[in-house]
Amino acid sequence: MIPSVLPTYNRAPLQFVKGEGSWLIEADGRRFLDLGAGIAVNALGHAHPALVQALTDQAQTLWHVSNLYEIPQQQQLADQLVDNSFADTVFFTNSGTESCELAVKMARKYWYDKGQPEKVEIITFDGAFHGRSSAGIAAAGTEKMTKGFGPLLPGFVHLTFGDMDGLTDAITDKTAAILIEPVQGEGGIRPVPDAEMKALRQICDDAGILLILDEVQCGVGRTGKLFAHEWAGITPDIMMVAKGIGGGFPLGAVLATEEAASGMTAGTHGSTYGGNPLACAVGSAVMAQVCTPEFLQTVNARAGQMRQALEGLVAAHPDVFDSVRGTGLMLGIKCKAPNIDVVNAGYDNQVIPVPAADNVIRLLPPLNISEDEISEAIARLDAAASQLET
Ligand SMILES: *Cc1c(COP(=O)(O)O)cnc(C)c1O
Repeated sequence: MIPSVLPTYNRAPLQFVKGEGSWLIEADGRRFLDLGAGIAVNALGHAHPALVQALTDQAQTLWHVSNLYEIPQQQQLADQLVDNSFADTVFFTNSGTESCELAVKMARKYWYDKGQPEKVEIITFDGAFHGRSSAGIAAAGTEKMTKGFGPLLPGFVHLTFGDMDGLTDAITDKTAAILIEPVQGEGGIRPVPDAEMKALRQICDDAGILLILDEVQCGVGRTGKLFAHEWAGITPDIMMVAKGIGGGFPLGAVLATEEAASGMTAGTHGSTYGGNPLACAVGSAVMAQVCTPEFLQTVNARAGQMRQALEGLVAAHPDVFDSVRGTGLMLGIKCKAPNIDVVNAGYDNQVIPVPAADNVIRLLPPLNISEDEISEAIARLDAAASQLET
């Protein structure tokens, strides 16, 4: 008999009933150190007082109004995002995949309005993940996500990750945009090197096409800059955001330049919930914390500490681990043992990594994890690895 919850997930037999900062408490009372943060969602950990305050204040005032009316919380968050990024304008969604939908629509509408309606193709890369909507699965193109769900949304051209030569050849008169994650998350924590990010921008400029960045996982302070592309000193035309921006409240956004967004006039797109007062009140509180230089400085310090400790951990367990990868607090360990075994051994030792493709475990702790908690996390991962060696 089918379970009452549609069985599309492989769930671990863990039931968390409470969260405190970097810790999750299981129904049986055990405390787990959370290196997954809801897959980079709980950017400020669990039950952060400023977010609880923002949410409860808003909950006592007004939960929802339609986008038929002005929403000051939405205006405030949009201003914060515009003030702190390349963007001139923001549309709010509820998830990463909805942000993907709009990014694709925006790129196509841009060219349609420019009088070049043939420019509909978007170039993407293998190992990419852009969500589970029809545009998202077609964009990523992996069989695991698309098989049985055809016909797929047409117009995506898939290249090998890092194939810069192939990229120039793949651009044609039909190309509208390139879509890429600056750091692949689900694909196994694969950063695009800064030089390649710069080259991508240049290729888009030379070809006169749009650069769309998917910063759903790597954005909002995760890499130690507010947005990951800042490391390369470039800016996109359109950017997808979600996950960390809501700190655990469902919220996403598409950020764009005035030029790239020029086709999106009244009536061309919408969302019932997108940018609702509760979500934006929380998002605004997240931004207030995350976009300060002091906060990002601390993220970079913790990232350095964690990276160094992980290198030591990998060296100490050469039969279990292969190498460390990633950037900021978006780190991965390529494993030699099956990554699922490592994750399960982590659970046994009350630490929570997240599996990713390419036999990698992901470490995406809350951005405000403490020095001591990182040391404790490493000790627990060390115990997990030792357990696999015996
Ligand atoms: C998680 C993720 C998405 C999809 O986000 P949802 O909120 O699950 O729809 C898209 N792109 C990237 C890079 C992601 O990590």
